[in-house]
Amino acid sequence: MKTAQKFTTSAGREIYTFPVQSFPGLVNNIYIINDGDQLILVDCGSGFAQANDELVEGFTAVAEQFHIPISLSDIDRILITHGHIDHFGGLPFVRQFTDAPIGVHILDRRVLSNHEERAIFAALRVGLFLEGAGVSPKKRQELMQVYLFGKQYYQSLPVQFLLEEGQPTVGGIQVYHVPGHCPGQVCLQVDDVLLTADHILSRITPHQAPESITNNMGLGHYLASLDKIAGVAGIRLALGGHEEPMEDVYGRIQVIKQAHDDRLNKVLEICQSPQSLADISKRLFGSVKSYHVLLALEETGAHVEYLYQRGELVAANLAEIEQSGHPVVQFVKG
Ligand SMILES: [Zn+2]
Ligand SMILES: [Zn+2]
Repeated sequence: MKTAQKFTTSAGREIYTFPVQSFPGLVNNIYIINDGDQLILVDCGSGFAQANDELVEGFTAVAEQFHIPISLSDIDRILITHGHIDHFGGLPFVRQFTDAPIGVHILDRRVLSNHEERAIFAALRVGLFLEGAGVSPKKRQELMQVYLFGKQYYQSLPVQFLLEEGQPTVGGIQVYHVPGHCPGQVCLQVDDVLLTADHILSRITPHQAPESITNNMGLGHYLASLDKIAGVAGIRLALGGHEEPMEDVYGRIQVIKQAHDDRLNKVLEICQSPQSLADISKRLFGSVKSYHVLLALEETGAHVEYLYQRGELVAANLAEIEQSGHPVVQFVKG
């Protein structure tokens, strides 16, 4: 039997939550906001069989533990915090129970509504990124398979409304647009509680990828978005898309910023002599396996790009870059 949790905001709105296993090793938190008038579902898991089963079980757990008659078919609105498959992949499954309108930020809308097209473009840019990083053709092929896993079973669905910062939404929810981890990443404020989705997590520093792969991602955007939330007063409790509740979101933001600062300094240290992205990634993260290789390369790419954009790193092999159509850039401290 699943265990659900309940939080009550300063204005008496109720937020229910339970975990679902989206993929082996990845657990997502699902939230249901009850403002007394409407039931709002925030994120819906990956759409994999186990996640779908656990979504249904989670609703049953909320109903039994808190004695409210509630099921997926009672949902009035669906809010998607960002366009990552572990947060929206369950939409086609949820659609079997409810016609509730779906809302997402405009910069992630096409991921939900034009998924097949967008997956092809994203794969193209990831392929170019890996080539430029100095990853061997064989390894690239492996990584592309890993990248495309899970992107092929979701079927596009239309989006009915947009989550826009400063615009009124349902349930008294305030939207903050916090690009970086994802272009259309939002945080949702319900009175004194902030649903941080994947922008701020209690244990890990949320994953970063360079904006050379996807516009409006990248470390520069992300750090600015952390500052934005640091400036929102009165958050008593922060609830992430993964991991545990955070009682001191402001302190957590400082810890995450420090972690990125440390990593940027480490990259500069490594680049005393010219290094490819693949080399830097190995030095930062050691030898990792399968999906983690791709994550490590993207994380490294985000930090190197940030430093390169600011003139802290420069390309050491300009002549080669000029002549080759597909150069592997060697970065060195500027
Ligand atoms: Zn995410
Ligand atoms: Zn996530």
